[in-house]
Amino acid sequence: MAIATVNPATGETLKTFDALDEAAIEERLARAAEAYRHHRTTDFAERARLLERAAELLEKDTDEIARTMTTEMGKPVGAARAEAAKCAKAMRWYAANAERLLADEHPDEADVRDSGAVRALVRYRPLGPVLAVMPWNFPLWQVVRFAAPALMAGNVGLLKHASNVPQTALYLEDLFRRAGYPEGCFQTLLIGSGAVEAILRDPRVAAATLTGSEPAGRSVAAVAGDEIKKTVLELGGSDPYVVMASADVAKAAATAVTARVQNNGQSCIAAKRFIVHTDVYDDFAERFTAAMAALAVGDPLDESTDVGPLSSEQGRDDLAELVDDAVERGAVVRCGGRRPEGLDRGWFYAPTVLEGITPEMRIHQEETFGPVATLYRVADADEAVAVANDTSFGLSSNVWTRDRDEVERFVRDLEAGGVFVNGMTASHPALPFGGVKRSGYGRELAGHGIKEFCNATTVWEA
Ligand code: NDP
Repeated sequence: MAIATVNPATGETLKTFDALDEAAIEERLARAAEAYRHHRTTDFAERARLLERAAELLEKDTDEIARTMTTEMGKPVGAARAEAAKCAKAMRWYAANAERLLADEHPDEADVRDSGAVRALVRYRPLGPVLAVMPWNFPLWQVVRFAAPALMAGNVGLLKHASNVPQTALYLEDLFRRAGYPEGCFQTLLIGSGAVEAILRDPRVAAATLTGSEPAGRSVAAVAGDEIKKTVLELGGSDPYVVMASADVAKAAATAVTARVQNNGQSCIAAKRFIVHTDVYDDFAERFTAAMAALAVGDPLDESTDVGPLSSEQGRDDLAELVDDAVERGAVVRCGGRRPEGLDRGWFYAPTVLEGITPEMRIHQEETFGPVATLYRVADADEAVAVANDTSFGLSSNVWTRDRDEVERFVRDLEAGGVFVNGMTASHPALPFGGVKRSGYGRELAGHGIKEFCNATTVWEA
């Protein structure tokens, strides 16, 4: 894949970049190792000062970087500004909380007395340079979600960003440099995915984190496994959105639209399968379909646009194939199901609602990375849980009910890294984020995230 900015709203190639050659990669790895030697010894106050400065600069740059993101991957520009704001918030949160999250842990004296220690504790030390392989869908947030805790823990970052967001990738390196981080603390490597293996095998790289597709995750985890290096994987999702009979149906339907089409439908934690109790199915389906059909699809730089283009022609074609396969096998199109009229340039797809989904349809098992929703009618909570869990993914899940017993039942039984009740899944700096099953492993954000790339060191003293 060429490293280039191609505007998905027009299909126009705006700027291309050369990939780094071997010598340039070597130079950057050496710089990362050198930067780590110093950064690991800095105190939390110094690290917090740098990260807060980065947050301030990012806030100042919001309009410009939002336009860059929108031009590179097509998200509505208002959402791009919100993404920048969220990044600044996460940076500040880690700046303020990392020291507390990584404070020494002291076991109960009674528990360790027989070890002979007069002092025993756990200290969280950094691991070293961490390679982050990141996707284009939240081109700032996915990176900051890794970088803020990693830098606060004393690690340094090497970013291999998706090939279609090179300008956002270079902006991030520049942001950390301007914030005052010493050279080498955070570097962007403009490289194709073929160059990842050699970097990951380099002894100077301590660990890796990847957000993206299952094949990419499998490939990076296989190499890291061979090298015995720690990985965190955040892969796809096909999150269920369960609406039970006692739910506030109007609110559930309105929120369902945002939960599905946020980021033009290209979010791992977007709700994708809408599983609705038969008593409220018709009411929900009508409200939801009407709202999906009414969305404004068009130029993502236009403030009034709700849904922009998909990020690539391939992404749009993959989505259309899933819909066509379902329709050929008997699914009913309630709205959409095609490219929108009047938008011939660019990679647009109309917000779509399908029902009558059966297990042999590809869409039942695969992730729909675009504004396409599938509806399922269920008779009771047992069936809702069974349909919700009938997927290889397990990222997050959503449930709408006013019944306390049902809440507890879903929290107990849904196979996912999150259960969001009477609201939609969203990430928050203070709450862990990640999945089970083929959605990956490990956690980002909160204390869980910062500790993933730490050496929990046992200190024992007689
Ligand atoms: P990819 O997984 O291919 O891309 C994500 C990142 O991984 C990019 O930086 C990419 O680099 C890199 N990469 C890809 N293959 C390898 C490899 N073998 N070794 C090392 N790095 C690799 O995602 P796509 O953009 O192709 O999207 C495909 C599907 O993935 C989507 O339809 C969606 O289902 C899922 N996805 C999930 C995301 C999430 O948030 N969990 C985000 C994006 C996609 P390069 O760009 O150079 O290929």
